[in-house]
Amino acid sequence: MHINSNVYRGLSRQWPALLLVGLMLMWAPRSWALSVFACEPEYASLVQELAPEASVFSATTALQDPHQVQARPSLIAKMRRADLAVCAGAELEVGWLPMLQMKANNPKVRNGQPGMFYAAEQIDTLDQQVRVDRTQGDVHAEGNPHIQFSPARMATVATALAQRMGELDSANRDSYQANLDAFLSRWNAAVPKWEARAASLKGQQVIAYHSSFRYLFDWLGMTQVGDLEPKPGIAPTSAHLASLLQRTAQDEVMAVVYTGYQDGRGAQWLAQRASLPLVKLPFGPGEEGVNDLFDLYDQVIDGLLKAQGNAP
Ligand SMILES: [Zn+2]
Repeated sequence: MHINSNVYRGLSRQWPALLLVGLMLMWAPRSWALSVFACEPEYASLVQELAPEASVFSATTALQDPHQVQARPSLIAKMRRADLAVCAGAELEVGWLPMLQMKANNPKVRNGQPGMFYAAEQIDTLDQQVRVDRTQGDVHAEGNPHIQFSPARMATVATALAQRMGELDSANRDSYQANLDAFLSRWNAAVPKWEARAASLKGQQVIAYHSSFRYLFDWLGMTQVGDLEPKPGIAPTSAHLASLLQRTAQDEVMAVVYTGYQDGRGAQWLAQRASLPLVKLPFGPGEEGVNDLFDLYDQVIDGLLKAQGNAP
């Protein structure tokens, strides 16, 4: 009896402290966070904007060809643990993602599940093909999947992605929405500044590698008058380079453009022969000095302005 009452008194003394601990546990940030598998670094970057506490893994770097990826065991393991996979879609990953999905055997990220998010499904892609003839090379039939350089489309993708995260993790729905609002207000403030800086590029013609920068040129009012690839996915041949060289004699071309994972030799040869500036533009966050999508846009515009002789 005596002992019991001591225990009771002891507990009643500790009660305020226990209550405090309980409240602190309720308020503490949840330790569980979304595990996200991004196919390309631009989507890893977008996920970080919308869900800074998520654990994000990017299957490729900006210096890797996103069309050609090995379904390595480390990628399979990451995909097996993912709550959400975020990929460009429009067949960009057709050569490797289905294999990863199959081997990872994670029902959350199967096609058609809310955990499998394709950016291209949220927007209208450019250059959709009505009829595809595979003899034309590795054609993107569902339109161009390299949408990271379309600011309007990326804003639409961000909005859809924040909503999807809220569906998968409803306890944090408000924070995804708040992060989206913060991202969009920065993004929408940056876009007109980029457009003003890039104004002199409007109407300029370039020769580039693949359709990698199609959305950038479309946005800035530039035209790609030649492709270093004779067919999509095919490296430049000497006959093709010779025909491009002739092209530069007819058209007023500002520069030859390519990106890090593409073979620079053909681009170099053409630029040298045609006495044109050669520009290597970053393709995604993670390249030197490119920490996020804002840096990416800054740098591609800087690179083009430098080639034009309008160095910032
Ligand atoms: Zn492509």
